[in-house]
Amino acid sequence: MPEKVVIIGSGPAGWTAAIYASRAALEPLVFEGAVTEQNRLDGTLPLGQLALTTEVENFPGFPAGNLESYLDDSLDKDRRLAMAPHEKEGVSGPELMELMRQQAINFGTRVVTDDIVDVNFDGRPFQLTASSGETVEAHTVIIATGARANYLGLPSEEAYKNRGVSACAVCDGALPRFRNQPLIVVGGGDSAVEEADYLSKFASRVYMIHRRDELRASKIMAQRAMDNEKIEIVWNHTLVEVLGNDEKGVTGVRLQSTVDEAQQTQDASGVFLAIGHTPNTNFLKGKLEMNEKGYLVWTTPARTFTSVEGVFAAGDVADDYYRQAVTAAGTGCMAALDAERYLGAQGI
Ligand code: NAP
Repeated sequence: MPEKVVIIGSGPAGWTAAIYASRAALEPLVFEGAVTEQNRLDGTLPLGQLALTTEVENFPGFPAGNLESYLDDSLDKDRRLAMAPHEKEGVSGPELMELMRQQAINFGTRVVTDDIVDVNFDGRPFQLTASSGETVEAHTVIIATGARANYLGLPSEEAYKNRGVSACAVCDGALPRFRNQPLIVVGGGDSAVEEADYLSKFASRVYMIHRRDELRASKIMAQRAMDNEKIEIVWNHTLVEVLGNDEKGVTGVRLQSTVDEAQQTQDASGVFLAIGHTPNTNFLKGKLEMNEKGYLVWTTPARTFTSVEGVFAAGDVADDYYRQAVTAAGTGCMAALDAERYLGAQGI
């Protein structure tokens, strides 16, 4: 029997779609992603980008407060124990995602910890293939695979991934190699400020390398960078080479001015990229309509319809503009309702 709804992805969009679809008795099956070293390096592990952040201060319903006992009550013991200790008030990204996952499971959502690597949308039901080789048939599919952090694409950056180059301060920042050392953050947006601010807890100094003379970050975040004595913004520069050796990994960077020919080097034991995102749509190339950046296109305004009837898109995979946890959750809800109506119209 084909599944009524298969959801691919496990960020706020995927779990919200699963909560709504399971409450509508559609028994959704979620492919939450595989736990592999490659997914770790790519930033595409289960629970998505929120699992790579710290405090979430803007998700409605989670004001500051001690959630400890609520988390203890709500989550499976094993998963609760595997989470980092709760050090502060309010909710963290990983906690929020675990709570959403559990909420979906409570209503009957089934979860497979694997990636979907191929899809066939030519016939009905649709066919999906997981990385294990398992195939699944589905009447509707909700794509909620999100987006991942970009890298500059330098050979030296690739060479030192895992040895000082990272795109996730929260995942890697506390490693001994970064403690009391100068660190580099590349970018001038909210993510760059967030990473620099977080790293300043460990680093001796954080250099934010920005290619212009003005931050893209929101006013409140830009002020946070300016107010932090450990953060120094290096304006009008790009990173052109990561310096290092086999023994130590990253030891510094070479920077190029964007206003003249000058280059300079800066010692550092780590380089953190915060230069935007790429949607996780590689496995959908040629199967669904995308924009020039690879984001899925909603073919009808304010509906989660994609270019294939019965396939819906929710969250960052179809949004290069808002990219917020709450907007992803909102479109996840919309996708589940759209799938439910589509199934109803087909008499399924
Ligand atoms: P972003 O706003 O697109 O900023 C990307 C930054 O990287 C820009 O400063 C850009 O420079 C720079 N950049 C891009 N490609 C580059 C390259 N090849 N070389 C050098 N620099 C490069 O991305 P984001 O910071 O990840 O934020 C994404 C969205 O998430 C935004 O809507 C943001 O508000 C939101 N967000 C919010 C928070 C928060 O509120 N706490 C935290 C994180 C993210 P230019 O400025 O010159 O283009």
